[in-house]
Amino acid sequence: MSQPSQSLEAWVPRSLVEIPAGSPLPQVNGDGLTPMTLRWSDGHLHAPEPLPEHASSPKTLIMPRLADPHVHLDKAFSWADHPNRIGTYDGAMAANLREHQTRTHQAVLQRGQRALEQACSSGLRALRSHVDSLGDGAECSWNALLELRDRWQNRIELQLVALLPLDYWSTSEGCQFARWVASVGGLLGGVPVSHSAGPRLRDQLRALIALAEDLGCGIDLHLDESDRDPAAGLVQLLAALQDQSVSIPITCSHLSSVGLLPVPDRQRLGERMAGQGLCVVALPLTNAWLLARQPGVTPTTRPLAPIRCLQRSGVCVAVGCDNVADPWYPAGGFDPITLMAQSLPLAQLAPWQRLGLAPFTTAAAELMGLRWDGLLRKGAPADLMILEASSWSEALMLPTNRSILIAGHSWTTPTR
Ligand SMILES: [Zn+2]
Repeated sequence: MSQPSQSLEAWVPRSLVEIPAGSPLPQVNGDGLTPMTLRWSDGHLHAPEPLPEHASSPKTLIMPRLADPHVHLDKAFSWADHPNRIGTYDGAMAANLREHQTRTHQAVLQRGQRALEQACSSGLRALRSHVDSLGDGAECSWNALLELRDRWQNRIELQLVALLPLDYWSTSEGCQFARWVASVGGLLGGVPVSHSAGPRLRDQLRALIALAEDLGCGIDLHLDESDRDPAAGLVQLLAALQDQSVSIPITCSHLSSVGLLPVPDRQRLGERMAGQGLCVVALPLTNAWLLARQPGVTPTTRPLAPIRCLQRSGVCVAVGCDNVADPWYPAGGFDPITLMAQSLPLAQLAPWQRLGLAPFTTAAAELMGLRWDGLLRKGAPADLMILEASSWSEALMLPTNRSILIAGHSWTTPTR
């Protein structure tokens, strides 16, 4: 028997709502918001209906549940025991390695569970987590996160990426591990090793792409997370892809140093990336904390993926939160609205503009290959984030009260 329908009147971002053909054109305010009635039953939305002009102004702002395309659940909340107070990239790596050596199944399970509870309560429906996959803590991290992926599957889609030094994929152990990762539905990832550059890096990337293509699993790289050698990794990736047709999706996470190039160079690279169908995840918070750091100097140069330039070139660009209270970043949280607020001053992405909102919404869903593109339309899941706000400014002020609907049902965080 079908359920009676429920409905809400709310402001909805115009760029995220699909109105049936033939409906009157909705009013859109300066925030890019349109007042709508959203109705749902049996877990799915009915066709959104614009509110009549004389209707009173809604008091809530509705977004679809969102996706974070780049997190690290295995090390989240490990700052307390493994801080990196010096705040450098190398300091973070050293603290991360120490933490990894003492990592246990139980620790990852607890941290991941805490992260997913926070993510779900904040309005996330999907996360892509990279997993430290070399050395002592690898096996327990994967086992714990696979357990969490199953535990949360009806509420959050969890994608897992094997994070390794890139040269590992060229070894026989690497090939064997890649087969296992593919068998559990994971992606292959990696970070260039510091002594690899130029053609050597290109060859490692070529080997990884061939391996992933053979296994049919996607790739997500940590590339050019640096404040020097602008685009050194990206140039090699493009060289590795030259004259190849690749069917697997490839994501470049970070690309921070690309933002240091002169604009025409960024644009040329952006066009080549678009031609290859490469996607990008920009990670403003961790980049702003770690990069361009010099003792006693306030940074005025902020390496960050050139989001707008890449978008203009036709590249799909999403924004992720990256690290949460781990050696790479002491703060953060699995909260997409806070991420939007904190990205405002760093990336100048304004949510009242379609391309300012897309990196947190539709682009993240597209890049992750999610079944639902995140548009509110007839038949879409009634998976909603209901914010107590009637403008973007109110929504981005902290703290923002919200409630979450999953398939039309209210989500309440379980008490511990
Ligand atoms: Zn990362």
